[in-house]
Amino acid sequence: MRITVLAGGIGAARFLRGLIAQAPEAEITVIGNTGDDLTLYGLRVSPDLDTVMYTLGGGNDEAKGWGRADESWNALAEIQAYDATPSWFGLGDRDIGTHLVRTALLDEGRTLSEATAALTARWDLPVRLVPMTDLRVETHVVVEDPDQPDGRRRLHFQEYWVRHHAELPVVDVWFDGIETSEPAPGVLDAIASADLLLLPPSNPVVSIGPILAVPGVRDAVLAAPAPVVGLSPIVGGAPVRGMADKLLPAIGVDTSAAGVAMHFGGRRSGGLLDGWLVDERDADAVPRIEQAGIAARALPLLMTDVAAAAAMARATLDLAEEVRR
Ligand code: GDP
Ligand code: CA
Repeated sequence: MRITVLAGGIGAARFLRGLIAQAPEAEITVIGNTGDDLTLYGLRVSPDLDTVMYTLGGGNDEAKGWGRADESWNALAEIQAYDATPSWFGLGDRDIGTHLVRTALLDEGRTLSEATAALTARWDLPVRLVPMTDLRVETHVVVEDPDQPDGRRRLHFQEYWVRHHAELPVVDVWFDGIETSEPAPGVLDAIASADLLLLPPSNPVVSIGPILAVPGVRDAVLAAPAPVVGLSPIVGGAPVRGMADKLLPAIGVDTSAAGVAMHFGGRRSGGLLDGWLVDERDADAVPRIEQAGIAARALPLLMTDVAAAAAMARATLDLAEEVRR
């Protein structure tokens, strides 16, 4: 079975670990969000691709959820000692090794897909990890800023999230460069040829949002013969972690399991979803989601360990079989 997953960082990586445990024989392609990518001190950093790579490769920091295990922070301490900016991004020493290799490959003229393939080879990943695009796309958020003449300021999503801890009021989200981007090689084919398309519990606005916004991707998902099943990243009206509750209202979406389902939409009404899983504490949202033509089930959706994620993956595969047309 060929499964294609549109993935952000931590939520996606943890779900993928469960999916691999549950469907070890599946051929899994992961289309990774690159809207979070940024350049720091000349280093090209791809936070979401790296979170998936480290987690599935067994090299991640399990407690933090991002970055390398057994990390040290000497380089960042030196940057801070120079009072250099930016110094707010968590650049670990081991992690820097990855960014050095990626940057060198890109400087040699390789594409991000090629660099990603070269990096993932080391980790012997049980999936194929493909960036959504090889071209530069940056997620920016527009925040309220009384010091600006028009009362607004636009900043890189990473600066908003890591530096400002998502504390600035967001009025808009913007994918810079998206119109002129194009899907990386293999992206559209992985969608069209999949037996199953999954939206893991990733941030709908800044993880899944940019992938779907790459020209051609949303249409490819809409046209795909495979069922599309997703899992809610919102549990009991709040994100399990992260800042989705700050971003969903900015794009007019209710911070709830049903709100996110309606945002993606049901296939019957021109949307993406055939099926949607919600946490058991959101079970009362199931009838409303089903009224929108989306098959919905409620079950525990907290990825406390790989076994819990595998149980979620099992339910996802079962629902996909039910809705398969
Ligand atoms: P990021 O790029 O590292 O922020 O990762 P993702 O976009 O892939 O995942 C972030 C989303 O995952 C957030 O909206 C979280 O609410 C969600 N999330 C994280 N852990 C869990 C979990 O255990 N269960 C569910 N249902 N969602 C989760
Ligand atoms: Ca991310």
